[in-house]
Amino acid sequence: SVVTNEKLKNELVELDKKHFIHPTSNMKQLQEEGPAFIFTEGDGIYLKDVEGRTLIDSLSSLWNVNIGHGREELGEVAKEQMGKLAFTSAFSNWSHEPIIRLAAEVAKWTPGDLNVTFFTSGGSEANDTAFKTVRHYWKINGKPEKKKIISRKKSYHGVAMGATSATGIPEFHTFTTSIAPDFYYVDSTIESLKEMIEKEGADTIAAFISEPVQGSGGVNLPEDSYFKEIRKICDENDILIISDEVICGFGRTGTNFGMENFGIVPDIITMAKGVTSGYAPLGGMVISEKLHKEIYEKTEGNFWHGYTYSGHPTAAAVALKNLEIIENENLIENVRTMGKHMLEGFEWIKEQNKQVIDVRGIGLLGAISLERESADVEPVTPKIVAEALKRGLICRAVVYDGQDTLAFAPPFIINKEQMDEMITIVNESIQAVL
Ligand code: PLP
Repeated sequence: SVVTNEKLKNELVELDKKHFIHPTSNMKQLQEEGPAFIFTEGDGIYLKDVEGRTLIDSLSSLWNVNIGHGREELGEVAKEQMGKLAFTSAFSNWSHEPIIRLAAEVAKWTPGDLNVTFFTSGGSEANDTAFKTVRHYWKINGKPEKKKIISRKKSYHGVAMGATSATGIPEFHTFTTSIAPDFYYVDSTIESLKEMIEKEGADTIAAFISEPVQGSGGVNLPEDSYFKEIRKICDENDILIISDEVICGFGRTGTNFGMENFGIVPDIITMAKGVTSGYAPLGGMVISEKLHKEIYEKTEGNFWHGYTYSGHPTAAAVALKNLEIIENENLIENVRTMGKHMLEGFEWIKEQNKQVIDVRGIGLLGAISLERESADVEPVTPKIVAEALKRGLICRAVVYDGQDTLAFAPPFIINKEQMDEMITIVNESIQAVL
């Protein structure tokens, strides 16, 4: 009943304020206002909160609940695996069936000979693993001075020490007094990378990392030939390419992995989110068979890197079921069809609202950018997001770097009527503010 819900809500708000630190949050605002939503249930593209409100989750929560909420099959496999063998270590020379099967399954999804996976609990750990691995790789090849990591401005790679340092959104650096050494940022032009190589020297650079499509930085698509030229330059200079596929991986852009849209095979893929659709925390670094062979042949002693959850049986069982669902239900095809429909909807919104200066998308990853004269001008998208919430839709405002962008990444299972509803609410919310 309404009264019980109100009582439960008040209790939870007080406990939240007193005991819970929210990730990437405005702590003062949380103390003053408490959490805006306390979610209780999910079903398909919808989330429900403690007050009984239903919202369209047009960001798949954190770009991750790709098969949608409430898929009980995932709960069933988790329960079965937990009952059988919830956890055992995969350190050193121990192993177990779910993680072996998942590593083999991931190899079917990845391009080229990217067939060997090291598992983590999420994307940040996957990227830190990749940074340590590329440095190790050059060290065992007699080039320990090749250790610099180059990333792109506006990139997001997570919040572990290495991942924070690679992240090209300066706001994330303000939380630490210093980031890790040997991280450098380039603009999204070929020239910028060339200049960086010239300045720092190829013999000091281990790897270049990039998202195929920048997510948190505002859904920024590369120029068509960008990555092909990057591949060429990196090959000429012995620089490894890490593709951060934490958002793009496992179908988000309409292909298995995002880089497939741009015509290159990276040396390393990092992944997380979509591998389990968020039903269990899991990530990983996938390397080529060639790199793997070189590493095991040339490494003296141990590969000195491993998390307790580098190979969690329950998370692996959940991932296997999630990937089976994506395949059996042809969800990547739906990503392509609905992605086209989403983009058409965005174009229609652009026609109606002259303040919309750009719409873009690939698969079910899209954005609407509004005019903002400079970073000093207050952005409007946070107000549009608030209007959308009132109308029953969750989406994200990206305001870094003078942008004013709305980001979208709906679940792969979205249908045409639901997409139309999403587009209608977004349009109404823009018009309510402007
Ligand atoms: N890389 C990208 C592209 C991401 O979008 C994210 C998370 O949003 C991460 C890395 C970090 O992953 P996690 O939050 O699982 O550590």
